[in-house]
Amino acid sequence: MSVKLQTPIDYLKGVGPNRADLLRKELGIHTYQDLINLFPNRYIDRTQYYKINQLQKSNADVQVIGKIIEFKEVAQKQGKRLVATFVDETGTMELVWFRGQKWIREGLQLNKPYVAFGKTNWFSGKFSMAHPDMELLEEHEKNLRGAMQPIYPSTEKLSNRGISNRVIIKIMQQLFLETGGKFAETLPDSLRSELKLMNKSSALFNVHFPKSQALLSKAQFRLKFEELFYIQLQLIIKNLMHKSKIKGFPFKHVGHYFNTFFKTHLPFELTNAQKRVLKEIRADLGSHAQMNRLLQGDVGSGKTIVAFMSILMALDNGFQACLMAPTEILSVQHYNGLLELCNKLNISISLLTGSTKTSIRKQIHETLENGELQVLIGTHALLENKVKFQNLGLAVIDEQHRFGVEQRSKLWKKGQTSPPQSSYGEQAKTIRKKFMTARPSTYKLLMELQAENKKHSTQAEAILWECLRNKKLDHKFRRQHIIDEFIVDFINLEKNLIIEVDGGHHNTIEQKEADNLRTQILNEIGFSVIRFTNEQIIGDIDNVLRYIANRLESLPSGEVGGATIPPHILVMTATPIPRTLAMSVYGDLDISVIDELPPGRQAIKTVHRYDKNRLNVFRFIRDEIAKGRQIYIVYPLIQESENMDYKDLMDGYESISRDFPMPDYQISIVHGKMKPADKDFEMQRFIKGETQIMVATTVIEVGVNVPNASVMIIESAERFGLSQLHQLRGRVGRGAEQSYCILMTGHKLSSDSKTRLETMVKTSDGFEIAEVDLRLRGPGDIMGTQQSGILTLKIADIIKDKALLQLARHHAKTILKRDATLSSPENGVILNTYKQMGKYKNIWNYIS
Ligand code: ADP
Ligand code: MG
Repeated sequence: MSVKLQTPIDYLKGVGPNRADLLRKELGIHTYQDLINLFPNRYIDRTQYYKINQLQKSNADVQVIGKIIEFKEVAQKQGKRLVATFVDETGTMELVWFRGQKWIREGLQLNKPYVAFGKTNWFSGKFSMAHPDMELLEEHEKNLRGAMQPIYPSTEKLSNRGISNRVIIKIMQQLFLETGGKFAETLPDSLRSELKLMNKSSALFNVHFPKSQALLSKAQFRLKFEELFYIQLQLIIKNLMHKSKIKGFPFKHVGHYFNTFFKTHLPFELTNAQKRVLKEIRADLGSHAQMNRLLQGDVGSGKTIVAFMSILMALDNGFQACLMAPTEILSVQHYNGLLELCNKLNISISLLTGSTKTSIRKQIHETLENGELQVLIGTHALLENKVKFQNLGLAVIDEQHRFGVEQRSKLWKKGQTSPPQSSYGEQAKTIRKKFMTARPSTYKLLMELQAENKKHSTQAEAILWECLRNKKLDHKFRRQHIIDEFIVDFINLEKNLIIEVDGGHHNTIEQKEADNLRTQILNEIGFSVIRFTNEQIIGDIDNVLRYIANRLESLPSGEVGGATIPPHILVMTATPIPRTLAMSVYGDLDISVIDELPPGRQAIKTVHRYDKNRLNVFRFIRDEIAKGRQIYIVYPLIQESENMDYKDLMDGYESISRDFPMPDYQISIVHGKMKPADKDFEMQRFIKGETQIMVATTVIEVGVNVPNASVMIIESAERFGLSQLHQLRGRVGRGAEQSYCILMTGHKLSSDSKTRLETMVKTSDGFEIAEVDLRLRGPGDIMGTQQSGILTLKIADIIKDKALLQLARHHAKTILKRDATLSSPENGVILNTYKQMGKYKNIWNYIS
């Protein structure tokens, strides 16, 4: 059987150019392979037929046997609809088409038994079915292959253009006919027998044409496993590549700062989770690879102290460290918290934000660059170009979801102050002059040859450039790049690798000498040079590329004048990304989880109250304030209706001011439109306990720590997302007192809103909340998921198939652990499949 699965779908019998076009546009099906991977959404039992008087108002898919006794056209707002009266011996229903009436009507016969299949609607006392699948009973009986009929994903356009589910089934059958139903196995035998997985051909057959529920389940299990397995494999390989490629500063020892802090200043016993995470971080920092770790921990789980102790590890090894937080308030808070600890240890620490005064800013820049300043805390002001570290060893990013990936990568580049591109100028000139004096004639020839080369661009160069330009090697090359006086053929600036192609005219000993001299000079300036002849390139370009790839792999990243090694990165987030998702999305980050709160925390009591109960709520606030507590009242702020939101906020503030009048009560207000200084002033008043109530928008969502605040009131709670509600609630419950969270809403609530509120009342486990959030919103809305393959899953379901995902990951890991390059014959099938998935380029680099 030699039908290629890469054959364009047009060639399949019964498809043709029009249908092929639709399949491409609507379902992304280009080839036989794509079609085979179009998996049914669900299955229906097609041995089950309903009588019209048995129909339920449940909007389910059903089959009804009956006859059309009449067609009529009914005018409606736009155009008309076609309505058929469909009867069986028990009653009457309507079949309705809004489009394609002409050919539908022509294709259907009156008074013949049909099977109508579709969703029923109950409308003005009658059942109807819109755009049903119609099949003559006679045909239907002939075609019936199994009890389980697949229902394929479809779009409105497809069904309007006559590509019904039945048509897709027919096309699928044709595909199995043409291919003989034989498909190459994509999982190794050992894995299949270990997990008792169905073979590929049977799995595909049974998923499209299941004979029984049992076979279908086995087929689905196998295909889901395969899908998740290859995604995990890819992520793990990415992670391994990262580790093998990116060098990091090894923090060899734990020293004075860490030990002193641990022994004498640590204000509490670390939780077991904190200890475990610190160990994980310690292991990363001690290795020669760059750490890239995500630290997840619910609000209040004590991430800050972990960050601080990691910072101490950097300082102990003579490096600087920084901590970046998303808001001014939060950076100030971190600064104040850490300042105290740093003072005890005699560590220099500064704060840099948008509102730092110029004079102080200047001083920070200076001391940072000369190494006097050890720790810098701040907002994204840290990312500015002017901020240069002498030797940044660790960057901590707090509350990652407020920062983009781009910002993370900006921090990377702050590794070591590396000289700007042009700075090898002076140094290069000196080196060149040295050689010019030492070997004048060769040097002269060298310059002549260079002029010559410039004129003749050879075919070999063109071939190589074509490959390099198209990123065959995953690294960016420039052509004809100027280094000092030299024009080099190709250069990769990340690895400082130059590739030179010798034209046909470098034959004499003198010329070879000149070439050598050139290499020598370039080496001394700081580049590696590889030379190829025309013949080598034209003769076996693949070999040449492999050679270059090997060299790239063996070279450290860096710039001339000292390698830039990126700092270790620790990203902290309290937005609990469900473990399952995190694992599959952040394949390139290692993940640590603090899954334990410090002891002695009291659970926050959470309730939902309607606006009409406001008076009770206010009474409660008054009581709490009388006990010396402080209160947050938070209003939603949603970009699109910003002005209205501010109106709500200000109205709320006024009404609260009336109910809680001065001088008995003091109220702070903080929102995003205030100047940072004013915001800070108000915030500080609240922190110091001078005000009892803080009215705010979500600016206080992240990280703010006022242990005496014990009540969180969230206005219009139905307008907040779950993770935001959870974050807000995390602002209270930080002290010893019983804390409360009150979710205020209007009376009318959507079912999603209800679920959100119920979840909040029911649980305070951030991960559980995240799972519900994921279910409600789908993975598309959760940050970071866009980049991963997880959204385009064809058969598996990230939520329902959690356990399977774990299994797949486990096996992918085990296999890579045993055979990192997938080069054993046993794993050949994996490597092959992986290659075909278009991942070859990456793994090839990794392997070589
Ligand atoms: P988050 O993870 O939300 O950033 P923080 O680091 O702000 O949490 O910690 C919340 C509070 O818990 C802080 O006041 C901190 O001092 C305290 N804390 C942290 N770890 C412990 C611990 N092991 N035992 C007791 N309190 C702790
Ligand atoms: Mg925090």
